[in-house]
Amino acid sequence: MIRLSGIRIPAKTGESGLWAEAARACGARGLRDGRILKKSVDARKKDDVCLVYSVAFSADNEEDILRRVRGAENWTPALGPEFPAVDLKEGTPPAVIVGMGPAGLFAAWRLCRSGVPCILLERGRPVERRTEDVRRFWKTGELDETSNVQFGEGGAGTFSDGKLTCGTGDRRIRWVLEALASFGAPEDILYLAKPHVGTDRLKSTVTGMRRWLTEHGCQVRFETKVTGLLTENGRVTGVRATCGGTESEVPASAVILCPGNSARDTFEMLREAGAKLSAKPFSVGVRIEHRQEDVDTAQYGQTATLGTLPHSDYKLAVHLPDGRSVYTFCVCPGGYVVASASETGGVVTNGMSEYARDNENICGGLLVSVTPEDFDNDPFRAVAFQRELESSAFRLGGGGYAAPAQKVGDFLRNIPSCGPGKVIPTYKPRIKWGKLDDCLPGFVCDALRQALPQMGRKIRGFDDPDAVLTAVETRSSCPLRIERKTGGNAVGLPGLYPCGEGAGYAGGIVSAAVDGIKAAEAVCRDLV
Ligand SMILES: Cc1cc2nc3c(=O)[nH]c(=O)nc-3n(C[C@H](O)[C@H](O)[C@H](O)COP(=O)(O)OP(=O)(O)OC[C@H]3O[C@@H](n4cnc5c(N)ncnc54)[C@H](O)[C@@H]3O)c2cc1C
Repeated sequence: MIRLSGIRIPAKTGESGLWAEAARACGARGLRDGRILKKSVDARKKDDVCLVYSVAFSADNEEDILRRVRGAENWTPALGPEFPAVDLKEGTPPAVIVGMGPAGLFAAWRLCRSGVPCILLERGRPVERRTEDVRRFWKTGELDETSNVQFGEGGAGTFSDGKLTCGTGDRRIRWVLEALASFGAPEDILYLAKPHVGTDRLKSTVTGMRRWLTEHGCQVRFETKVTGLLTENGRVTGVRATCGGTESEVPASAVILCPGNSARDTFEMLREAGAKLSAKPFSVGVRIEHRQEDVDTAQYGQTATLGTLPHSDYKLAVHLPDGRSVYTFCVCPGGYVVASASETGGVVTNGMSEYARDNENICGGLLVSVTPEDFDNDPFRAVAFQRELESSAFRLGGGGYAAPAQKVGDFLRNIPSCGPGKVIPTYKPRIKWGKLDDCLPGFVCDALRQALPQMGRKIRGFDDPDAVLTAVETRSSCPLRIERKTGGNAVGLPGLYPCGEGAGYAGGIVSAAVDGIKAAEAVCRDLV
């Protein structure tokens, strides 16, 4: 097959013109079996927005194309990865994996691929029941601390936009994308420059993955919270867990710990067990909401009206003179601001969208960096800070998980908001208009006030007076790290393999999944 890159299709033509243009660009005769390898949008020139493709195809004159056309290459589809089986000693207990977010699920997937039996322990519920629990919370404000947006099968990103971008070039990223596509995620995640799954498709992907895991040697136990570690001669040999009020001990050949960044009680348990926990930089702030149509026009110009382009997003950062940064994070085009609390009496916001990204608004985290020095390098003071922000947002919202909100124009003028303008906020169960200075620390408000006008100069309308700020976003990343040695074992606790976002080694669905795979690779190595 032939691989050809850099094929530009004007937005007004749309994808329907792709194969004719590929054939024209290289003089291919009898072009067939075409597949897209990469697709992105080039919107640098508003009057010439293009879709840019890499493609592969067969043709009658492949030899001739390879000789004549600069950049044309021979291409064969890569084979999936092969994982050697691990030869376990008789009587070796299964590996235990704590947490069923992307890190835990992919650790289990990797162990199963090498034939290592494992048990997944998850404090929350299966995704079908969890969806009902979360819907009830959004409707009524009744929070279930066991089953919510942070806890349950699929982990924190299950009710999300399911963005699958990742800043590294690790070869395991491709394994993650291919596995997700095989479990039910949309096929286009394999070639889009900015792939995303959407909450609707994520849920069925997660159940597809659970089915595969249970068919390949993994036991899954829901509503089972790990509350302690079993040790022998300083080595972790299992976990203590509680399910339905009953405590049990689960022996393990290795414990892969993937608790996510909201498992504050688990961090306490680890401190008591002697794990080395360090403070790390993280961020706090708000969600900002605009009308998608306005951001599309700012990004694509008049081309936005053609309907041939995906909804636009944005990525903005401002570095302030005092050393803090303000940046946008986890942007959800055509999405919603969602109530993401996991603790009673604390409001937490985040964002999600469906695969179609067809809601009227776009929302993104608008965050201010904080550093370990802000908390004297004490990770638990950082956790206390997060919690304090969440409870002040709860109080200002007036209870029932209503979130405080303010329009950007009012925020910049420091006057309370009383109602919406053209942007209708999407947070459920409801928002309460007011002044965000009454729940956010002064340095966060100052940083946002400096950054918003600067961001408005980068994307027209980003500081639109009617854009809505909803507080508070505190769980974008973990405030602490569980220190581990090269090879994956926790410092001071051999046999324990901390990984994923809650351990401080990942920041998103794909990087957490990759870190889970790495932890499983370390276990496979150590078990022989
Ligand atoms: C609303 C929302 C939207 C997001 N959108 C995106 C996005 O679009 N793209 C992206 O890349 N990232 C997104 N993220 C971040 C992403 O979800 C996380 O980075 C990722 O899920 C981290 O994976 P993890 O496996 O390390 O932890 P988690 O996904 O947090 O999973 C940890 C799991 O461990 C369980 N657990 C915790 N403690 C225990 C215990 N003691 N015993 C048993 N089980 C336990 C929890 O219940 C949880 O299910 C979003 C997050 C949220 C909340």
